[in-house]
Amino acid sequence: MLRVFILRSAPIPASAITANANDSASRLGNNSFTRLWARLATLQIESYDLFLDVDFRNLRFDGKVKIKLESEADVKLNSVELEILEVDANGRPVKYNLEGEDFTIRTGKFAGELDIKYRGLISDKLVGLYKAAYDGGYVASTQFEAVSARRLLPCLDHPAYKAEFKLRVRTDSDTSVISNMPSNSVTVEGPRQTVEFPKTPRMSTYLLYLGIGKFEEVKENFNGVDYIVATVPGKSSGAKFPLDVAKDSVKFFESYFGSKYSMPKLHLIAVPEFAAGAMENWGAITFREIVLLVDKDSSVRIKKQVAEVIAHEISHQWFGDLVTMKWWDDLWLNESFATFMAYKATDSIFPRWAVWQDFVRGETAGALDRDSLVNTHPIEVKVNSPTEIEEIFDDISYGKGASIIRMLEAYAGEDHFMRGVRSYLAKYQFSNAAGIDLWNQIEQASKTKVKAIMNEWIRKPGYPVVNVKLDGKKLMIRQRRFLLNGSSEQSNWPVPITLKINGKEQKLLMERSEESIAVPEGVDSLKLNLQETGFYRVYYEGLYDRVWRSNMSPVDRYGIISDAHAFTIQGRMDFSQYLTLLERYMNEQEYLPAFEVSDQLSSLFAITGRVEEISKKFHRTQLGILANRKDENSIVLRGSMSSRLALLDMEYAKELASKFSDYEKLEPDMKQAIVVAHARASGDFESLFKNYNNRPSEEEKSRFLVGLTSFSKPSLNARAMDLASSGEIKKQHVGTLLGSATRNPEARAITWNWIAKNFDWLRGIYEGTGVVSRYLTYMLPILGIDRTEELTTFFIQHKAPEITKGVEAGLEKLRINQAFLKRIGPSQKQMVDIQERN
Ligand SMILES: [Zn+2]
Repeated sequence: MLRVFILRSAPIPASAITANANDSASRLGNNSFTRLWARLATLQIESYDLFLDVDFRNLRFDGKVKIKLESEADVKLNSVELEILEVDANGRPVKYNLEGEDFTIRTGKFAGELDIKYRGLISDKLVGLYKAAYDGGYVASTQFEAVSARRLLPCLDHPAYKAEFKLRVRTDSDTSVISNMPSNSVTVEGPRQTVEFPKTPRMSTYLLYLGIGKFEEVKENFNGVDYIVATVPGKSSGAKFPLDVAKDSVKFFESYFGSKYSMPKLHLIAVPEFAAGAMENWGAITFREIVLLVDKDSSVRIKKQVAEVIAHEISHQWFGDLVTMKWWDDLWLNESFATFMAYKATDSIFPRWAVWQDFVRGETAGALDRDSLVNTHPIEVKVNSPTEIEEIFDDISYGKGASIIRMLEAYAGEDHFMRGVRSYLAKYQFSNAAGIDLWNQIEQASKTKVKAIMNEWIRKPGYPVVNVKLDGKKLMIRQRRFLLNGSSEQSNWPVPITLKINGKEQKLLMERSEESIAVPEGVDSLKLNLQETGFYRVYYEGLYDRVWRSNMSPVDRYGIISDAHAFTIQGRMDFSQYLTLLERYMNEQEYLPAFEVSDQLSSLFAITGRVEEISKKFHRTQLGILANRKDENSIVLRGSMSSRLALLDMEYAKELASKFSDYEKLEPDMKQAIVVAHARASGDFESLFKNYNNRPSEEEKSRFLVGLTSFSKPSLNARAMDLASSGEIKKQHVGTLLGSATRNPEARAITWNWIAKNFDWLRGIYEGTGVVSRYLTYMLPILGIDRTEELTTFFIQHKAPEITKGVEAGLEKLRINQAFLKRIGPSQKQMVDIQERN
């Protein structure tokens, strides 16, 4: 699955993508594996034969499921919000018991067939078989990961209990029905039809899919597989780009994994309401419309995201669907690996995008930031309740996990890494495996210490800062844990260090807290963590001038300023030193370091006016540099920088807003900036809202949503927030609106007030998705500026299990931000305000 991610102060809060995973049992360690396998030994499920009679109009269904199994004791299944009508075991009625989500059938030792008749509703939540509305209708679509298959059928809802699924669906004949397999017969009887699907390969329950609705389809056959994009009516014109990316991705993965795609067809389904970004149901992948459909008006920014999301989900067709984790403990691996592989595929399909730069900025940077808090967690965590696991699928599980896999690949070697992955997939296909099984295969292929390294990185929270200094003819390297609150903690990781001294590259695996490297000729130039493949920061003690002599790549230049920003927030680097360093980036010519500085200045601007002038200067200079560039990354960057400048520079906003009348003819990547500029310059609430409502494209809607919270008048931003709680904005857009409002200093106060007032409602609409926790982690450090106590008290009074970790992290970062602001003091403008008040 793909989570909702929020790029640090990205121009549009990236609307996609959230993980959502649940299960109750505790995990990991040898104990739980023993328990798990003991349980497996007592129950073997062979198949589910499911018949559903779906009353599409009245949003309910009758179900009949035949389950073939063998069990040593009473059969224990899962069922939620289903009304069980009758249970037969080998044709005879049998007693059963429902307790919470546990459905126990009193069979005793049993072999044969269970028949269960039951009833359920098409849900108005975003899990199970749910109603996803669009303008003029709705579709019914499933979202099961992690524990919602039990909302459609009683089943053993556990990833290790793979089975074959056969499905028949009776419903209105004017709809089409989509599942994992292509249908093999459709029988129409008047207004009703019965659609039958052949049995699937052995697979986990959370990967089963059912979609019903008036879908429009575009189909293409390639290498014997049908590729089909399904959309709600009127939207299939956006299908060409995703079809091409899907074909290219399958081709890439078949070659990389050394194994053919397993299903006869691959559906890419655009679902109009979706909590997550996308979901890898085997052969029937679901997406938010914005991360699937691309038309002539789509920005390059969104096209890059679409390609990455499709590649991510297609990678799961092998890593996740063909070979599945034994238990949700290893969901981090499932997701990290897909995240990492998505960039690999996208890099191969679109080399001009140089997407590893986006990986570093989008995945590694976010994880380094999140993991620098005391309130972090190891990648591998003990999960006690469904809400806990839901919450854990955050920047650590995806971003840190993926970054560590990248570090491992760099250490083991690309080719060895690939061979390890191939033998892992070959060995465990149609079955289940754990992380250790993958490390074993890569270790065997590479003859390196993969297991020992991965164990440390996975089980320990945080990451090191590597301190470098010169001591006579020795370069001293020391590691400690990096904590953003400035505290210090001795802790060691096995760090694969890469470095370049006087132009010569070296590698070492740093296992102790201190190492020294002999430098008999002295150090003229120096850089560590080449291409930022390592998950650590580097502090050069008195050596920054030599770093600048080392002829750095753009990614290396990015690394220097990214670390410097963290050291500044932490207090180790003076604000003035940081500002001096920024001067070196004023004329930056490359995408990644320029984007990073823009990210930093924008996130600083959200909390302090101190960077207003330097940010104006930087963004104006950069827009000059980018003015005539035609390459796609420059187009993306120009769009983002323009949006950001429009938010902080009214003069520029007015200049840009004049182009709003020509909106339809604008370069797609500039449209967001023009909307923001128009909002700031005109305060024209009505027309922005009308545009949000009337434009069918999700990307267009998202542009106007951002506009609706970019006003310079707080009262207008407040009006936009009220639209959310009155239901005039789609549920999946509420998060987008909040993310965007957070970045606008003139919307800060009203956004917090709105959250405080509508907190229970907000939790309600995202129930079971884990989304709120992640949004709070991102928003609280900004929204809480100058009201730390108020927020702290609020969350003491509003404790909720599914947001605990997100709130703790958000409040910690808020305190860090507040301490940073105190250190640097108020801006001149703030000083004037204070004097005027006195
Ligand atoms: Zn995923």
